[in-house]
Amino acid sequence: DTIGADLDRSAAAWPDREALVDVPSGRRWTYAAFASDVDDLARALLAAGVAKGDRVGIWAVNCPEWVLVQYATARIGAIMVNINPAYRTHEVAYVLKQAGVSVLFASLRHKTSDYRAMTGQVRGECPQLREVVYIGDPSWDALLSRAGGAEPFPELSCDDPINIQYTSGTTGFPKGATLSHHNILNNGYFVGESIGYTEQDRVCVPVPFYHCFGMVMGNLAATSHGACIVIPAPSFDPKATLEAVQRERCTSLYGVPTMFIAELNLPDFPSYDLSSLRTGIMAGSPCPVEVMKRVVAEMHMEQVSICYGMTETSPVSLQTRMDDDLEHRTATVGRVLPHIEVKIIDPATGVTRPRGTAGELCTRGYSVMLGYWNQPEKTAEAVDAGRWMHTGDLAVMREDGYVEIVGRIKDMIIRGGENIYPREIEEFLHAHPKIADVQVVGVPHERYGEEVLACVIPHDPAAPLTLAELREFCDGRLAHYKIPSKLRILDSFPMTVSGKVRKVELRERYGA
Ligand code: ATP
Ligand code: MG
Repeated sequence: DTIGADLDRSAAAWPDREALVDVPSGRRWTYAAFASDVDDLARALLAAGVAKGDRVGIWAVNCPEWVLVQYATARIGAIMVNINPAYRTHEVAYVLKQAGVSVLFASLRHKTSDYRAMTGQVRGECPQLREVVYIGDPSWDALLSRAGGAEPFPELSCDDPINIQYTSGTTGFPKGATLSHHNILNNGYFVGESIGYTEQDRVCVPVPFYHCFGMVMGNLAATSHGACIVIPAPSFDPKATLEAVQRERCTSLYGVPTMFIAELNLPDFPSYDLSSLRTGIMAGSPCPVEVMKRVVAEMHMEQVSICYGMTETSPVSLQTRMDDDLEHRTATVGRVLPHIEVKIIDPATGVTRPRGTAGELCTRGYSVMLGYWNQPEKTAEAVDAGRWMHTGDLAVMREDGYVEIVGRIKDMIIRGGENIYPREIEEFLHAHPKIADVQVVGVPHERYGEEVLACVIPHDPAAPLTLAELREFCDGRLAHYKIPSKLRILDSFPMTVSGKVRKVELRERYGA
């Protein structure tokens, strides 16, 4: 179905239940009010000359207007282009031009980002950009006041492109995946179904809306089941997140692993009442078992789920279900979602590998993107003639069908001919009492080709771990070639806005 039709269904079924709550401003929408505001904005866009297929950009931090723009553009078949709020002039100009954006919604400012000033600087380079509307500014009201009468919305097909979503840029420059209603609405629905969403659920979304984790696994999963979206803050803040869960009695909490780690490590963590939580999603990068266990035990998220996915596949293809046992729910990314296929191949030959052996994960089904926007060659490199998406991730499928992610092919370390998977060492080191967070990367070495570097954020910066202590902890428990020979103590990692560690940057910075 289309996103607009699905929203109408939720608004008809649960008109008086809450759909959206913005904790910073205290604004709230019921489903009836939300659907009505979406329609008003959709009519305003039509009146502003936005037609089906036109690109409408959104360059904003999390706020309720972001969500209104998401559903209003879907309602009229405009293609919403999600722009990373951390972008600066060079990057935003590139995206505006590459996607041919004609109307742009932007935040006014957030922290040190002055979006109005930056937009002013790039407008001259983007002749196709007709109109810029700032959120929380008279230009927003001016747009809405243009809404005409009850003009009919355009006829839409669920296979129409509806979004250009950019990948996180963890391994290089982000790629714009073109996705349809069918792609993302189905995916959001099935993600919500795996964790049993109903109209009773209240979903705390501290992850950015610009990324698929927020807008699909968050917003679409919630609205397709009548649940409520709770916005704790414009950008991630661990305290604001836990306060929102407590104040709004959220039943579900999202985050990439580093966000959960930041919340669990807050000095006043025990003082928050998180008893309303029952579920949530950890995703985006390898989810350490130790962290998953703490989330279950200390955040009451007994039914927490891990998702594996990528922007190009709408995003989720594997997910643990709330009735899986604890071992499967913490150590694997679950099983394949309905109507999606996965296989694990030898990346060199393309031959499917037997269960229990590592290979490149490939996925196929309704969820595979229409393609990278205006980049057919890039699309052909990622999606083969049989419509299989080659993920670039290494995985093992257990005998019982549950899948473990080993890591990205690009992050594998080859030391003296031995293949080393950073994830295995990271998992092991997470159990060290002095380590709050850890990343393992390969750095060049004359004799071995690469050697193993551990980058550690210590629990107590005043008493950080030493290399000798680290090696002693590993000695006798890990094969000698896997034991890190270098250690860096850091207070943070270089991150993408979607919360992923940029190992590329760690390698560049500390490789010498
Ligand atoms: P780019 O493609 O621009 O380098 P990216 O791959 O990080 O960035 P996304 O589409 O946001 O962009 O993320 C998809 C990737 O995230 C997957 O290919 C995988 O490497 C990683 N990932 C997602 N979920 C998990 C998970 N549960 N466990 C391990 N890795 C995960
Ligand atoms: Mg990727």
